[in-house]
Amino acid sequence: MTRKNFRACPVYIIIILLAGSCTLHTPGYYVFINGLTQGTTYHITYESRDSINYQSEIDSLLRQFDLSLSTYEPASIISRINRSEQNVELSDYFINCFIASRQIFEESDGAFDITVAPIVNAWGFGFTEKSDPDSSMIDSLLQFVGMDKVRLENGKIIKDNPDVMLDVNAIAQGYTVDVVSGYLESKGLTNYLVEIGGEVRTMGINPHGQTWRVGIDKPIDGMQIPGMQMQAILSLKDRSLATSGNYRRYYIKDGIKYSHTIDPETGYPVRHNLLSATVLADECMVADGFATAFMVLGLEKSKKILEHRKDLDAYLIFTDETGQYKVFFTPGLKKFLLKVTE
Ligand code: AMP
Ligand code: MG
Repeated sequence: MTRKNFRACPVYIIIILLAGSCTLHTPGYYVFINGLTQGTTYHITYESRDSINYQSEIDSLLRQFDLSLSTYEPASIISRINRSEQNVELSDYFINCFIASRQIFEESDGAFDITVAPIVNAWGFGFTEKSDPDSSMIDSLLQFVGMDKVRLENGKIIKDNPDVMLDVNAIAQGYTVDVVSGYLESKGLTNYLVEIGGEVRTMGINPHGQTWRVGIDKPIDGMQIPGMQMQAILSLKDRSLATSGNYRRYYIKDGIKYSHTIDPETGYPVRHNLLSATVLADECMVADGFATAFMVLGLEKSKKILEHRKDLDAYLIFTDETGQYKVFFTPGLKKFLLKVTE
């Protein structure tokens, strides 16, 4: 099966609308729409007093987005840049994503790095065939990795070497959530939830007049069905949330687990006791980028970043020396937590 778009992994979390008793607000009509995009599903709920269904507009927006940033779309801007075509006209989507990616690269000490594409591909998690790399192949691919090898100059992308390639899959879904949310806000909507592939943005209240409820899955290896076993339930208002984990997209070869998060410093899939990272931020793109960065950095380094980045909250699930699940969450996240399971 060929993947069409950003990632084939299903959602990391599920959205639940818990029936509730306290309804202070008289809800208007809520419109529920869902569909497929970026190799995954989307679910959007919003209050529209006139019950206007914006699905076709949203679908064409998602298509435009793919034509900018999908590495699985040969005609997209990013694919053309990866093939080193000349004079590729950039879109605002591409430029915004590139600028944000560089910023998160800097703020994560290089853990988040969209130039990791050739290595993601070599390990079999990208847009080319897997090549079972050995250490000398990784060493030679590492020469094309690093944000110092690519820049935005006068509206064009300049690469130091044609083999430098970009993969924005770690941030694109979060960015799409922001784009779709921006579209809904442009229509004057103030109560909505947008979820694409598990990345979420909420605004206002749900159909029960409550804050939106979002579940975080237990990071159990191979568990493909979101919501089967939940670790926690958060109550979210006017916040975005993204989760990264290595429990769905991985393979095992000769008894070794290879996950889809690559450490750009070593060129190898990360292997440590941090199982999933859920990040809350105002913008979903920022949450998505840092969730991936934290999976590269591991527990302790992520905690250090969180000490300084007071605009971020996080819920990190890891295993201790005995293999038991443990969680760390920022003090700011506490007020969002409705339920935690052991
Ligand atoms: P996410 O699920 O948001 O953590 O994104 C994971 C995807 O991001 C992977 O499937 C790769 O395509 C890409 N990726 C892997 N490692 C990195 C990294 N260190 N920095 C940026 N993107 C990465
Ligand atoms: Mg991410």
